[in-house]
Amino acid sequence: MNILGFSYEEFVEEIVKLGLERYRADQVLDWVYQKLVFSFDQMTNLSKEHRRLLPQHFSIDLPKVVEKKVSKFDKTTKYLFELKDGNTIESVLLFHEGYATACISTQVGCPIRCSFCATGQSGFVRNLEVDEIVSQILAIEADSRQKIRNVVYMGMGEPLLNYDNVVKSVRILNHKKMKNIGIRRITISTVGIPEKIIKLGQEGLDINLAISLHASSNEKRMQIIPLASKYAIEEILDAAKQFQQNTDRRVTIEYILIKEFNDYDEDARRLAKILKEMKMKVFVNLIPVNPALPGLERPSIWKINRFKEILVESGIEAEVRREKGVDIEAACGQLRLRALQKR
Ligand code: SF4
Repeated sequence: MNILGFSYEEFVEEIVKLGLERYRADQVLDWVYQKLVFSFDQMTNLSKEHRRLLPQHFSIDLPKVVEKKVSKFDKTTKYLFELKDGNTIESVLLFHEGYATACISTQVGCPIRCSFCATGQSGFVRNLEVDEIVSQILAIEADSRQKIRNVVYMGMGEPLLNYDNVVKSVRILNHKKMKNIGIRRITISTVGIPEKIIKLGQEGLDINLAISLHASSNEKRMQIIPLASKYAIEEILDAAKQFQQNTDRRVTIEYILIKEFNDYDEDARRLAKILKEMKMKVFVNLIPVNPALPGLERPSIWKINRFKEILVESGIEAEVRREKGVDIEAACGQLRLRALQKR
């Protein structure tokens, strides 16, 4: 029973079942989540008897680092982690305005198969367990000695297809007696599953939501995101609006710019129009596509800036995302795909 998979309440219950006082749970969690001590032996405020008893019931398992790449330019660090069953996942440590941000995975591979994503190309294996999601943060902190301030669920997988485990992991990361990361510093990024977006808004978590829209017409979206044939843009944005009404959080729209595909003036104007019609607080993040996969080219800087200006002139807040880790294959899924190809 990996401690990292328990909610706070569940862990307290387990500790009490063993005949220990409730506050012992807080002590153990403080060692694990704050002091990054992963051996009961080193938990010096526990009695020798407790230090012997606890490992008979619990483990504290982190994934193994099998590959690590550090950018020379901005210290972005990409990890390839191996899970207990031998599957591998990627996580990234990056620095945003000087603060450490972890980008974590929620699935081994991804069933959505977006055409611009290396993870999508490598197929889908399984959902991650709660402890496998949470432990990515601790493994990054233990390796880098950087305290993670922000978490984005934007690595491998579609978080809302692993809904229960993702939401439980958010509660663990946010809990004051556990990882204690502010809820407004946690972002879930989804390709857009309307019923799950609405449900997320009703969880009582003021979490950030990012929608990977990547096109302003359903026809174009279907060409790059197979799931788009099931959910129309209007339905997704309507769900995002309901999320916002429940949480009062600004919604981020992610838009990957692909040369001569979705980078035309009419794409920008249509995007501005649909977002204005929704009457939501939105922010558009423009992301020049990573040309790692064959057939993908990013637009010129001039075209990227023009796209942004059209949005801004229409009253939509927009930014071009600054690239991180350009020298370390930081595009989602690249490291794992290469490792799989070598096998
Ligand atoms: S972009 Fe996200 S949803 Fe699409 S295949 Fe990649 S990991 Fe999955």
